Amino acid sequence: MRTQRQVVDYSLRKRAVLRELLAGRVGTYDVCDASPYLKNAARFHGEPTDERCPICRSENLTHVHYIYGDELRQSAGQARTLAELPVLAMTVREFQVFVVEVCLGCDWNHLVEQYLLGRDGLAGSPEGGPDQGVMGGTSAPGSGANGRRRREAQR
Ligand SMILES: [Zn+2]
Repeated sequence: MRTQRQVVDYSLRKRAVLRELLAGRVGTYDVCDASPYLKNAARFHGEPTDERCPICRSENLTHVHYIYGDELRQSAGQARTLAELPVLAMTVREFQVFVVEVCLGCDWNHLVEQYLLGRDGLAGSPEGGPDQGVMGGTSAPGSGANGRRRREAQR
């Protein structure tokens, strides 16, 4: 998404949790604790991935996108489908997105990343207009050049 900025990647933290689990310092009941709300959000607003659950390895992970920000008013804290985010990004100046991965099989869940979206992100681009940059020329700072930028490729 072209207004995506201030990306924070939580994959290191996730790996640390999985290490703790392998070492037996935490139990699966500690990390597989998705709430009914989170699971519902995953079912109704979630984005299926082709990534296997690291715990049960029988289900694929679902990504849930939560949005936060003063401008969102009563929508703040709600889950949105990935398709809804670019539309929202054109109408709101700035809001925070938290991406959570959930396994509907074993209830594993972990924060994947967070980032900002919104029209304010367009101001900094040299050519200005909202209709450029579809090819991803304005990539988010700090984002690794790995396959995890799948969402942008889908546009
Ligand atoms: Zn699982």
